[in-house]
Amino acid sequence: MVNKNDEFKLNITGYTSEGGGVGKFDGQAIFVENTAVGDEILCHIIKAKKSYAIGKIAKILKPSKHRIEPQCSCFKTCGGCSFGHISYEEELRLKAQKVQDAFARIGGISPEFKPIIPSPQTTRYRNKAQYPVRRENGILQIGFYAKKSHRVIDCEDCLLQPQEFSTITELFRKWINDNNITVYSEEIGMGLIRHLYLRKAFGTGEIMVCVVINGAALPHADSLIESLKGVSGFKSLIVNINRQKTNVVLGETSEAIYGEDFITDILCGIRVKISHLSFYQVNHDGAELLYNKAAEYASPTGKEDILDLYCGAGTIGLSIADKAASVTGVEIIPEAIENAIENAKLNNITNARFICADAFKGADALREEGIKPQTIIVDPPRKGCSMDALKTVSHFNPERIVYVSCDPATLARDAKLLEEMGYKAVEVTPVDMFPRTAHVEGVCLFHKHTEI
Ligand code: SAH
Repeated sequence: MVNKNDEFKLNITGYTSEGGGVGKFDGQAIFVENTAVGDEILCHIIKAKKSYAIGKIAKILKPSKHRIEPQCSCFKTCGGCSFGHISYEEELRLKAQKVQDAFARIGGISPEFKPIIPSPQTTRYRNKAQYPVRRENGILQIGFYAKKSHRVIDCEDCLLQPQEFSTITELFRKWINDNNITVYSEEIGMGLIRHLYLRKAFGTGEIMVCVVINGAALPHADSLIESLKGVSGFKSLIVNINRQKTNVVLGETSEAIYGEDFITDILCGIRVKISHLSFYQVNHDGAELLYNKAAEYASPTGKEDILDLYCGAGTIGLSIADKAASVTGVEIIPEAIENAIENAKLNNITNARFICADAFKGADALREEGIKPQTIIVDPPRKGCSMDALKTVSHFNPERIVYVSCDPATLARDAKLLEEMGYKAVEVTPVDMFPRTAHVEGVCLFHKHTEI
């Protein structure tokens, strides 16, 4: 048994699903963040439990060959990136492994695993940022919550975000300081500026700035607009009002005080209107590869009716509508469905319709209506599909199910359930949509058992 403050030599031999390193000492698992497989470290125990312990690096005795110097200035403090210290090759290897392990351990099944698709960019790939704005000891901070805390730290140039986001953050900081604008305090629930929320449409270069305030209006708005006009791509300034004492970023009322309340992107050749409210894949170029893989698995021939469950702003379905007889999208968020309908119009797509409902209820209603999709695409949030939704999907008896997932554990769980319902997980392709973080996306193709 190890104890707090013990120090000993430790070899790192594996990773946790959150991306931390693990080694064994005296038969006990020791978790150490920011380590890489192959590291030999002097480990200092900071927490000791019966079955495991948590350590930190006191000294790196022999660095792993996968180790690299973190490029981002705030890697140690911010906690957003788990893999800033290891090579991208090693990151891809362990992400592919994570997907395979989930299928083996949780699903108990082993479909064919295709090589992981890397992200086209490993830095500056994110098209969205939500920076909390606070004062810490009187000093204005615009950035991220520090690891495991609600303390905001400045991030002058996060390497996952486009360069323009750093420029905008600095202009915003200057505007707050020059105009003595108050910023929000979580303790007392007072102060005006809560969040700076940014979106960039990589396909067109358009940028949306959304300022979340605890008040009725933005003072000195003209001077903010003037300075933002100097940023190339700046298209729209939204003021969102959130006066609730809550962790939720956006409030219910918004107004565009410059430009429109959306920006337009191009994704897989489709023009997509994005509002600050709609779900939108954060890695544009990665999303195109993900959608291409989903389209390859769906392999529409022009005759199929396709059901796109958890469709968001309709992007997956719309990107294959020209190769399908029809597309029907189901999504629970009304604004996303409004966007999906507008996006269909914007692209002159007339064989797509969108329904605002829970995936299970919407699909069930469509079944009652008598539609018989040959292909069903599902793209649920991290918690995966509900049991009811999976049952309804299998009751449609489609030839193919394409499951797009942002959590390998729930994908593997649902794959097992679909196997019990008469489908076979044929092939899985992991896609790295979130380089440097521990998240990985996966696409899985299911066929009806009889087809195999
Ligand atoms: N396919 C889209 C969105 C995927 S994200 C894209 O690629 O952009 C998952 C989506 O599921 C979100 O838009 C979320 O609002 C929606 N969602 C969450 N729970 C749902 C439910 N119970 N029924 C239907 N949609 C749901």
